[in-house]
Amino acid sequence: MPNDASFAIERPLRGERMWGFIEKVFPICRSITGDGLRQTLAAIADDLPIRLHEVPTGERVLDWVVPKEWNIRQAWIRGPGGEEVVDFANHNLHVVSYSVPVRAEMSLSKLRPHLYSLPEQPDLIPYRTSYYRERWGFCLPHRILEDLPEGTYEVLIDSTLEDGALSYGEILIPGQLEDEVLLSCHACHPSLANDNLSGLAVCKSLAEELLERSDLRYSYRFLFLPGTIGAITWLARNQDRLRIRHGLVAANLGDSGAFHYKRSRRSDAVIDRTVEHVLAETGVEHAIEEFVPFGYDERQYCSPGFDLPVGCLTRTPWGRYPEYHTSADNLDFVSTAALLESLDLYRRVVNRLEEGLDLDKRVPSVLVKTPHNRQEGRFYLNLAPKGEPQLGRRGLYGSLGGDSGRDPEMALLWVLNMSDGSHDLADIAARSAIELPRLEHAAAALVEAGLLELLSGPKPAAVR
Ligand code: ZN
Repeated sequence: MPNDASFAIERPLRGERMWGFIEKVFPICRSITGDGLRQTLAAIADDLPIRLHEVPTGERVLDWVVPKEWNIRQAWIRGPGGEEVVDFANHNLHVVSYSVPVRAEMSLSKLRPHLYSLPEQPDLIPYRTSYYRERWGFCLPHRILEDLPEGTYEVLIDSTLEDGALSYGEILIPGQLEDEVLLSCHACHPSLANDNLSGLAVCKSLAEELLERSDLRYSYRFLFLPGTIGAITWLARNQDRLRIRHGLVAANLGDSGAFHYKRSRRSDAVIDRTVEHVLAETGVEHAIEEFVPFGYDERQYCSPGFDLPVGCLTRTPWGRYPEYHTSADNLDFVSTAALLESLDLYRRVVNRLEEGLDLDKRVPSVLVKTPHNRQEGRFYLNLAPKGEPQLGRRGLYGSLGGDSGRDPEMALLWVLNMSDGSHDLADIAARSAIELPRLEHAAAALVEAGLLELLSGPKPAAVR
């Protein structure tokens, strides 16, 4: 059985392969559908025999529908003197992902609502998306935006939004058991290195290693898919044959920050204990956090209708580094050393799961639960418990993505995720640290939208 010592010889090579992959696919303009996503999956398929899936536009997936496919050829803004203001050819973050086509001349005041910048980080280009509402926009450094003169601007976005398909890649590496370990990563961000490509690189390398092994007990399923809609699509198509015993969502694995483990919704699943043991015994700097119903695709796998034992193992979590969702999350921001350390950690987790050690005792935790009286609680039931319901189309969710400051929506996500009939609003307030009135407001809006039902009392928890 390969151990850490035999892998040590190959470490430099593995590091080079991960780095080389990231460098190769970094320039590609990815989105939740389209040719950029396909090219990225094809680059993975060059090294790893993943199966490529194409799910047609319009297919119903849980509460969602596979969207139209988006592709873009060119986009630019020219100023009053014909000068180039921004050009998609220079950086694919310049265009709001899923922008509808436009060719027009307009004044600066007409153009201005379509421009996005970061006043606090005036030299960086932000990353913005608009998947579920048709609009167009450009992203640019605030320093350039501030200096734009009055006059007539010419804008072009040569994109298409039409019936096509949603692509994802999948590989199942069989072990002795049909029970599966899920490794899932998102592949839908354009030129962003840490939030996107580092997860793909580590998962790809780990899968390559596991393919070489003949001693696996568990079967390992790797998913390379667009965030949210990809996981929802996969769950919709596989919900009747789920064999996931343990799972991890992989992202943000190339920066130099400490490791962070976000527990599954269950909080005490074997995967939670295993990762916490491995982090403790390796002695790397790390933090353990409780589940919250936002973040990456763990929010889908851990929706109450599935409640799979899937945690999220990252270095610095999303939104907590200044480079996050900006042009500074580039090739300079990720290092081979960090990627290798992340791969080593994931391999240790796999080996621990394979050993199936007695993990009844979890490592001491500093997390505390707040006790409260639940006698008079209000218990709700999520009526669309599989995956997240699509809040945007019901007017409950902001439609411009990429920005991490979306506090008003957190209350909705918490109420939906915890409303399995066994947690009342006070439980949810304790878990989420959101004040009860905000949760009451969110619950009322969800009842109004037909997504939530008030129960007369607690419902017995489902048997796992
Ligand atoms: Zn992201």
